Formats: sequence, structure tokens, C-alpha cells
Amino acid sequence: KSFGDLNLSRPLVRACEALGYKQPTPIQAACIPLALTGRDISGSAVTGSGKTAAFGLPILERLLYRPRRIPAIRVMILTPTRELAVQVHSMLEKLAQFTDIRCCLVVGGLSSKVQEAALRTRPDIVVATPGRMIDHLHNAQSVGIEELAILVLDEADRLLELGFTKEVHELVRMCPSRRQTMLFSATMTDEVDELVKLSLNFPVRLSA
Ligand code: AMP
Repeated sequence: KSFGDLNLSRPLVRACEALGYKQPTPIQAACIPLALTGRDISGSAVTGSGKTAAFGLPILERLLYRPRRIPAIRVMILTPTRELAVQVHSMLEKLAQFTDIRCCLVVGGLSSKVQEAALRTRPDIVVATPGRMIDHLHNAQSVGIEELAILVLDEADRLLELGFTKEVHELVRMCPSRRQTMLFSATMTDEVDELVKLSLNFPVRLSA
């Protein structure tokens, strides 16, 4: 199978070619077609498996497929650390390089003012660490996630291990209930299972 067989639009297939990807990794081959149908997914996948593109490509495809007249945050990706957020954001920018989809990074340690200004322009995708995202949603009136269609919880086990349980639960509650949710975790602990139950609807389990 090649990326061209996965029902992805031309700009996304081109981006994969530009990145030198010859064929989808196992998690990508399993996740992309399923995510395109809108199903919730809980995936066991480690860094290095290609999981970022496994959720990134179907997200971009769904945004391309349903263009918006009015800009709004339609996708939120939560990661446990600033470093991972930076990596995911940079990967998404590369995958979106032939589209006009806008992606914004919201993490601690960077200027809050600059991030708030970026959020006010309503990027399509926000990649964030939980604490900083909550601060913005509480403090900035014009920054909302009412139009959110897709939520990703990346490295869910580490989100919980690092003490973000309360923040993640609060963010999940702030999202519209009609949405697609994808959760990825290296390990599937009882705590992760609880988060799956709380945030996903009839999820399909994938492992790679
Ligand atoms: P990830 O697991 O998402 O952190 O990705 C790990 C690395 O694999 C990144 O450097 C990606 O650019 C690369 N990668 C992702 N998908 C593919 C693919 N289909 N073929 C070759 N490399 C890939």
C-alpha cells in the first residue's frame, strides 16, 4: 500500500512524498482509513511508530474536506510536554505545507501574549500542553473551542503520570460532546482506561 491508496487528497500525498515517506507504517495503514470515517480511536503506539502522521493526516484530510467560512479552532491536540508539542506542531506544519490549514503552538515557557494573539486569529489546529491551554481558555474571552470537531490525547499515559489528570478532564469537559476523539498511549494502564471511558465513544482499539 502507498499513501495514494489511502483516500488522501493530493496536497497531503505530495507532502508525504516531499518528506520521503515511501509507504505508510503499520499504525498509519490501520489508523488513517478508520480515522477518516470519524470513529473514535484508542491506539497503543510509541514514538517512532509514525503515530503523529497516523492521526495528523486524517485530521488534515477532514479539515480540507469540510472547509470553513469563519475561522475557528477545530482541532486540539494535547501533549504531556513542551518538547513533544513542538515536535507534533512541526510535523503537522510539514504535512500541511501544501494546504492553507493553520496550526498553532500553545505551551508554557513561551510568551502568553504572543500565543494569545495567535489564538485570536483562530487557527484550525492547536497543539498544546494542558495547563497553558486552560489558562488561555479561562483568560481570553475571544478564544474558544465551541467549534472543536476533533480532540487528540497524545501520550495519554504520560499526561496522567505527569499529573495533568485534572486539567485533561477539565479540557475534555469543555469540548463539544459531538466530536471525534483519538487517544494514543505507549502503555494501557487502568488510569488510561478510565480516561478512554471518560473521553471516547465506542472507540476502536488499535495497536502497532
Ligand atoms: P512519530 O512516531 O510520529 O514520532 O514519527 C517518528 C519518525 O518517523 C518521524 O521522524 C517521522 O517523520 C517518520 N515517519 C513517519 N511516518 C513515516 C513513513 N511512513 N515513512 C518513513 N518515515 C516516517
